[in-house]
Amino acid sequence: MNLIEHFIDGKITQGSSKETSKVFNPATGEQTANVKLASKSDIDFAVEKAKKAFVNWSLKPPAQRARVIFKFKELIEKNSDELTKLIVLEHGKVYEDAKGSLTRGLEVVEFACGIPHLLKGEFTENVGTDVDSWSIRQPLGVCAGVTPYNFPAMVPLWMFPIAIACGNTFILKPSEKDPSCAIKLAQLFKEAGLPDGVFNVVNGNKEAVDALLTNKEVAAISFVGSTPIAKYIYENAAKNEKRVQALGGAKNHCVVMPDCDLDQAVNGLIGAAYGSAGQRCMAQSVAVAVGKIGDQLVSNLAKKVESLKIGPGLDKNSEMGPLVTKEHLEKVKGYVDLGVKEGAKLVVDGRNIKLQGYEKGFYMGGCLFDNVEQKMRIYKEEIFGPVLSVVRVEDFESAIKLVNEHEFGNGTSIYTRDGDVGRTFASKIKIGMVGINIPIPVPVAYHSFGGWKRSLFGSSGMHGNEGVKFYTKLKTITSKWPKGLAADPEFVMPTLN
Ligand code: NAD
Repeated sequence: MNLIEHFIDGKITQGSSKETSKVFNPATGEQTANVKLASKSDIDFAVEKAKKAFVNWSLKPPAQRARVIFKFKELIEKNSDELTKLIVLEHGKVYEDAKGSLTRGLEVVEFACGIPHLLKGEFTENVGTDVDSWSIRQPLGVCAGVTPYNFPAMVPLWMFPIAIACGNTFILKPSEKDPSCAIKLAQLFKEAGLPDGVFNVVNGNKEAVDALLTNKEVAAISFVGSTPIAKYIYENAAKNEKRVQALGGAKNHCVVMPDCDLDQAVNGLIGAAYGSAGQRCMAQSVAVAVGKIGDQLVSNLAKKVESLKIGPGLDKNSEMGPLVTKEHLEKVKGYVDLGVKEGAKLVVDGRNIKLQGYEKGFYMGGCLFDNVEQKMRIYKEEIFGPVLSVVRVEDFESAIKLVNEHEFGNGTSIYTRDGDVGRTFASKIKIGMVGINIPIPVPVAYHSFGGWKRSLFGSSGMHGNEGVKFYTKLKTITSKWPKGLAADPEFVMPTLN
């Protein structure tokens, strides 16, 4: 059985722990590897190496760092097929979707190539007579990232290219469910010329994460995953005096107005709800049908959900692959059972599909619920599977109220032809990422990604300027060159008057 180890200080490293966790191919249900689970001493070892590497890496001119990152970008492009297959084989999503997510990550690497420009500070001549002031942003030290299973390349790539471009060193703790992609990225970064110890991948679970949270040398933690763990990371990182950004779960609503282009809305919703088998933090899991459009919307959605092509991610005909693990499959099916018990109308039931030749794979078909209500658990909780709930409301104001009352605030979208409605929605909605006739409004690399409410703990989102700000600290210098007579001591706050 293949054993996936750590990548520390420029090489594959066994670590001291003997603990492992199983990795599966969700398409076949077979175990494909064991992954090492780091102990506290493995984490401390990686942090020590990263701290040592910081000394020289932080002193390198940003333009030199950018050249290594540029080479890394080229190597990701050259190896994109292999990286994509690693995503498909351990996560299960279909090949083109996996490739798209890798490209979205690659775009952050492209953004990080502009670091000399991004790190330029501000300068003011004569803040006082012969006194100048300027500000610079300097790296933090050793930064860490803890990432979820659903984007094994893209989410880590939101973090470490920018952190490293800013002059930090980095320890990535990827999901133990699909760890291979992160190791390959580390090998490519080394091939690009990155000095040993600047980027390290340590596999593990809670024990490894806790060791990162308590290690005094770790200056900042970036986390993406479910809300309970995001909150735990936020609280414990703060307690241990670390800078922290912790992105959590979601329940994204797509508001469908009666005046919209219904075909566009239905196609948008189908891709956004069932793409990646609903395992995206920006998946649309609630369709809010406004006014009279409800019956037509449900009927059009149902036809498409019934005809979804489900199969292994490497089959070019598949539109939707399996779920990541057997446990997750059971959890999602459990939510569908619950929805039926709670009284929602199950219009399409995908619980019992079997795929010939892939009987042990973790598949389920798309499910569609109608008449879902605000009080139901299937509405309140994140299901993270191919289950779309339709909630019917009377008017636009009720739709806004519904979305704003939900505890999560990651993404939302609206389908309408009315510019005024679209503008009002964008202005009034309490959600971090908003689409107008766009089903999955994931910001591009040079903007920033982040939700509101219990979808993000902390004040900064990922990548774009927010990323550069998160991974650097501000220093402001005020200076005067001595000339003439020595100044008398001053006992009052200096002002211009
Ligand atoms: P998860 O919270 O179970 O795991 C995320 C990471 O935390 C993993 O690396 C895992 O090893 C670690 N972890 C798990 N339990 C831990 C514990 N008790 N203590 C410390 N660390 C722990 O999430 P997941 O199932 O891998 O990913 C799916 C979740 O991630 C969904 O809720 C999804 O919405 C969310 N997500 C959010 C975003 C976003 O940008 N907001 C993006 C992608 C995924």
